[in-house]
Amino acid sequence: MPLVSMRQLLDEAAKGGYGVGAFNVNDMEQIQAIMAAAKETKSPVIVQASRGARAFAEDLYLFKLIQAAAELNPDIPIAMHQDHGNSFETCKSAIELGYTSVMMDGSLKTDGKTPSTFEENVEVTRRVVEYAHPRGVTVEGEIGVLGGVEDGHGAGGSGLDHITDPDQAVEFAERTGVDALAIAIGTSHGAYKFTKKPDGSVLKMDVLIAIHKRLPNTHLVMHGSSSVPKDLQDVINQYGGKLKETWGVPVEEIQLGIRNGVRKINVDTDNRLAITGAIRKVFAESPEKFDPRDYLKPAREAMQKVVALRMTQFGQAGHAGDYSPIPITEIAKGYADGSLVTRPLVAAK
Ligand SMILES: [Zn+2]
Repeated sequence: MPLVSMRQLLDEAAKGGYGVGAFNVNDMEQIQAIMAAAKETKSPVIVQASRGARAFAEDLYLFKLIQAAAELNPDIPIAMHQDHGNSFETCKSAIELGYTSVMMDGSLKTDGKTPSTFEENVEVTRRVVEYAHPRGVTVEGEIGVLGGVEDGHGAGGSGLDHITDPDQAVEFAERTGVDALAIAIGTSHGAYKFTKKPDGSVLKMDVLIAIHKRLPNTHLVMHGSSSVPKDLQDVINQYGGKLKETWGVPVEEIQLGIRNGVRKINVDTDNRLAITGAIRKVFAESPEKFDPRDYLKPAREAMQKVVALRMTQFGQAGHAGDYSPIPITEIAKGYADGSLVTRPLVAAK
């Protein structure tokens, strides 16, 4: 199956009332783990690469691996997404490679650290939309600023520093025409999200619900949404790791989000934890081993397990066969003739 437009994938998720996990990849084993989980659970899936991943793996290696995944799994719709593009050029280069979706994170300046102004964000995101849509490529924007840092990208600080203002979210969606919108509701990137179990006072689910009410047709995206489960932390620490106690985003909160317009959920940290735990276990229990396959295979299996569980929890499991992919050229026509609405009809306050 050719790579699918993320817009189509998210439109289908909205129809079906489920969310789709977007899992980060850097290498072959991670791609294989995701595809094995998608196959096992019959899930459509979003695979995403950060700038750091593209630099680590090299663009061509990474993209050819994704193409292999698509070829080997003709029954699984796969969207390939640029995670946190920092500039127009980053997004353009991803589109030229063949990515079917890009995130333009204009909430930060090109350095990927300094919060930008609202006008700067609108300007660069609209420019990316104007380039992407005629090519049939989906665009995710971000309004508000997430906490933490991942892959050298992020403003740092708490996820509560720059919560999305619903009025700004509406204006941003109208002026940019993005397909999907990442909002800041208190989540952070990385493993250290919360110092206590988060509840309604930490995650601003009321803000999410308010935004969804006003932008019912814009797909909402939750970033920094690993759950950082204790059992994965424990495996790492049991075998010599030194993780400090931390809490992620509870799956129930994500499910509440999915009932209120969240269609894409970014998960990276949980997979990193699963891989590291599995490798540490082999190193600790079998220190005589030195064949990388002896620890990469269990690492891949551990990640597959986490991904399959999230696919089931987000509700995408079982939906791989619901629809046939629309060619990207047709999607481009849909943007051009207005049948794929991008400027949202805003619901009354
Ligand atoms: Zn993110």
